[in-house]
Amino acid sequence: MDNLDKKSILVTGGATGLGFSMAKRFSEKGAFVTICGRRKEKIDEAISNLKVNTIGIVADVTNEEDRDRIINQTIEHGGKIDVLINNAGNMYRGNIDELEENKLIEIFNSNVISGMLLLGKAKQYLKETEGVNIFIGSVHNRRAFPGASPYAATKGALETLTRVLAAELGKDKIRVNCVVPGAIFTEINQRAGLFDDDQAKKRLDSMAKIHALGEIGTPEDISEAVEYLINARWTTGAILDVDGGLGLGLTED
Ligand code: NAD
Repeated sequence: MDNLDKKSILVTGGATGLGFSMAKRFSEKGAFVTICGRRKEKIDEAISNLKVNTIGIVADVTNEEDRDRIINQTIEHGGKIDVLINNAGNMYRGNIDELEENKLIEIFNSNVISGMLLLGKAKQYLKETEGVNIFIGSVHNRRAFPGASPYAATKGALETLTRVLAAELGKDKIRVNCVVPGAIFTEINQRAGLFDDDQAKKRLDSMAKIHALGEIGTPEDISEAVEYLINARWTTGAILDVDGGLGLGLTED
């Protein structure tokens, strides 16, 4: 029997990119997967490409009623919650003197606060299953990209939360871990209006040489690491870099 068999796994922002790769991998391994996202067409497309045992909910994690609905429908679908993957996230860049208050609040809401509130709601269910929460951090906390302070600040917060909440929830046998991905082609920058697909691909390809392993990653590299942390029963408060060595800050000889 597979170790994900019959686990109930919620992946926020699971219709695209890294979240979709997780939903695909875990549903193929027998888990009951629930994904959520704001765009109905993306949810429909994802569900049509996933195996059985997966449901999609059109919902915004920054909205309280939607968060209730996400938790309730995850329970209806999987009968419990074993794993919460707080994956939904957005990019916002700008120099410090150009930043807009409402956009800063928005990115902290989507990248940090909604995950905290969702974990708060899921706590009672994760306690029953001795489950795990996984945050998705970023290599932006290893490499300082000028102009990326809003995004990097949200991802730094998730690493802090991983440690504090692992300490807080350990007595309930709930584990809290964080995967820190490097550069992977998804639609996050395009959605933020920063690049088109072509520019995003070129930009990532040009970064290959600053990875110790000489290449950018794939969504599957991340879902593999998330699967490890789901099953690692004695691992909590862990922050796992999965970035091909980008975060090492490789220098020329
Ligand atoms: P993506 O844009 O494909 O996925 C993010 C998903 O989250 C999207 O489907 C988006 O619609 C959804 N989302 C955003 N706000 C939401 C909200 N309020 N409610 C519900 N859903 C919402 O990009 P991705 O790269 O797959 O991003 C997944 C996670 O990985 C993000 O947290 C991102 O910060 C992180 N990450 C990505 C990279 C990378 O190189 N791609 C690197 C490091 C970290």
